[in-house]
Order: sequence, then C-alpha cells, then structure tokens
Amino acid sequence: MTQPSTRPAVVSLRDVGKTFSSGTMALQHLDLDIRQGEILSLLGPSGCGKSTALRIIAGLGEASNGSVVWTDGGADHSRDVGFVFQEPTLMPWASVFDNVWLPSRLKGVSRSAARDNVMQALDSVGLHAFAEAYPRELSGGMKMRVSIARAMVTRPRLLLMDEPFAALDEITRQKLNDDLMRLQADLGWTVVFVTHSVFESVYISDRIVVMAARPGRAFGELTIEAERPRGTAFRTSPAYVEYCRQASAMLTAAIGKAAATVDGH
Ligand code: ADP
Repeated sequence: MTQPSTRPAVVSLRDVGKTFSSGTMALQHLDLDIRQGEILSLLGPSGCGKSTALRIIAGLGEASNGSVVWTDGGADHSRDVGFVFQEPTLMPWASVFDNVWLPSRLKGVSRSAARDNVMQALDSVGLHAFAEAYPRELSGGMKMRVSIARAMVTRPRLLLMDEPFAALDEITRQKLNDDLMRLQADLGWTVVFVTHSVFESVYISDRIVVMAARPGRAFGELTIEAERPRGTAFRTSPAYVEYCRQASAMLTAAIGKAAATVDGH
C-alpha cells in the first residue's frame, strides 16, 4: 500500500485566510493538503484557528480569502463531510437509533430505508445492542461513539473531528483512539483530527501539522512513520517518545513565536 504521504489530496487549502467581523484574524496564509486515507492532526494551542479551519473545510464557514479545492472539482462538498464535535451533541429526547438516523433523515431517507446503514454504523462502534437506548442511559464514551456512528452513517469522504475525546477520561480516550484507528483502517477513512494533545496526535496520526496563533497558520509538519496497526507496543517505544519530543518542541516554538508576535518582536 502506498504511504499516506504520497497519496493524492482529497482537498487542498490554498492561502486561506479568515478575518471575523470583530477584526480577529483567525487564519492567515494557510496551505494544507489533506491526503486520501490519512489521519492528519492539527495540533496547536487554543485560539490558533484549528476549529475555524475545520469549519471552512466542512463548508460551515467561509474563508475571507484563498481557496478550498476538492480533487473532483465540485463546489459543494458539505454533504460529503462528517463532523464530530467535542460534545456529542445528541438529541436527548431521541433514541440512539434516531440520533444516528438524523443525517440520513435530513437527506430524505426514511427510517426503514436507513435501518441497515444505521445498524451497521452502530455495529462498527460496538453499540448494536443500544439502538433503543436514550443518551441519558449512556456513559460519556458511549455517547461519543454514537456521535461517531452518526458522522459515518452517510459514508462521508472526509471525517472532521474537533477535539472529540478531550472531555473523556484517559482510559476511555485511549480506547476510542484505538477504535478510531481500527475503523479508519477497515473503512479507508480520511480523517482530520483537531487536538491539543501531543501524545494523542503522535499515537494516531500519519501526519501532524503544528499551528501557531495570532494569526493562525501552519507552523511546521511532522510525519509519523510508525507501522500500523499501532497499540501499546508503539505507545511504549523509544520511537514514540522521540516523536512526542519533536512534536512538543515544535509546539513550544509555535507558541513562543506567537507570543513574540504579540509582544511586537
Ligand atoms: P482553536 O480551535 O484553535 O481554539 P478557533 O478557530 O476556535 O481556534 O479560534 C481562532 C480565533 O478566532 C480565536 O481568537 C477566536 O477567539 C476567534 N474566533 C473564532 N470564532 C469566532 C467568531 N465566530 N467570531 C469572532 N472571533 C472568532
């Protein structure tokens, strides 16, 4: 199989900038290629424009300048994108099944026509038996699995995840990292994963783009060449520690640079 770093881009951001009406320049000169079948992490401190970049890729927000280019040249790809937020954002009054059905329902697919897809998505995240449960009956990790199932039910080309596991305890987070890698390998997903955890980004990513703030931009890039599947052996290896050291140093430099910019140096 070809290395993710040599595969064609699904979507490319070219010189993307975003200035909000408040005057905040959230992004400036952002160039980013998202390659087919890779897990790409955007790693950076709070406020460096990671969420803004995801929203622009998803079509939930417009770039002030620059362009977002999809390889097949079409304009509206918002329906080809699955989005997972930090909060599971489930409808509390609806069953797990109905929550996962929602994106298909919005596309006009009936409950019965969606059934197989919904159950398959729930099966993938290990929640087949919980289709009729309600969100209040689930743990935080299970709610996040429902949210992932909901994002995958329409089989998007690109899965965008905005700090999806940040609110979970460490054990649950590790488990979901493993599950995400398994699903990504099985189903061939392309994933953009926003995080501020060096450890998480090194563990799951093919590539890490470190971002700096004020204005938000890509500061550096790191390719993680460790073999897949990855597990405890990788997490406890010298190579993992070395990648974490490199990512951490890049992040520290990115934060230092942003602080220097603010101080006017
Ligand atoms: P991150 O995801 O890296 O924490 P964001 O993309 O959320 O960063 O935000 C980048 C910058 O843009 C921050 O300074 C934030 O306050 C600002 N920002 C984000 N959304 C808005 C908005 N809707 N209006 C004004 N400023 C915003």
